Amino acid sequence: MMGSPLRIGVLAVQGDFREHAAMLRRLGAEVVEVRTPEQLEDVDGLVVPGGESTAIMRLIRLYGLDTALRRLHGAVFGTCAGMIVLDRDHLGMADIVVDRNAYGRQVASFEAELELDGQSEPLRGVFIRAPIVRERGPDVEVLAELDGEPVLLRDGRVLVASFHPELTDDTRVHELFLDLVRERERVRA
Ligand code: GLN
Repeated sequence: MMGSPLRIGVLAVQGDFREHAAMLRRLGAEVVEVRTPEQLEDVDGLVVPGGESTAIMRLIRLYGLDTALRRLHGAVFGTCAGMIVLDRDHLGMADIVVDRNAYGRQVASFEAELELDGQSEPLRGVFIRAPIVRERGPDVEVLAELDGEPVLLRDGRVLVASFHPELTDDTRVHELFLDLVRERERVRA
């Protein structure tokens, strides 16, 4: 319905789901913390947060969420561990293959200014034991790069970031995700 807030699920089994929820609420969305398949039933979009991908995958299976996740029709946004969880080797919802902890120990965590596609204002990227995308399908668009590596990508209705936009005050990446949710809703309407 026009004017009603978007209902966004945030997978809340492990990781920094609270930060995503806070940012989405700031942008006017209604947030559902998702721990059961039923909670996925009427969300317009879903965020898979950063954290520890092995733990997140185990809990997804334990709570019986994997089938329900794969059946989602709305837009999906994965950050860091969430990007790993969505790749071809895990839930297979984004046509990418990701290498975990790919920046090595010395530079495990860092911040860098990113150039966002079509925007003059740089974006501060917070990288924490971040993955690197090793392979991507022909339909995957790169929306931001760091030193030649893609760090923000879009595969149709799925957005993935190897950094943590939920850990800064800059809401632009979440706004981009909510635009994708609305776009997807229009396509389905
Ligand atoms: N290194 C973590 C993993 O492999 C991801 C880290 C993060 O989400 N900040 O799951």
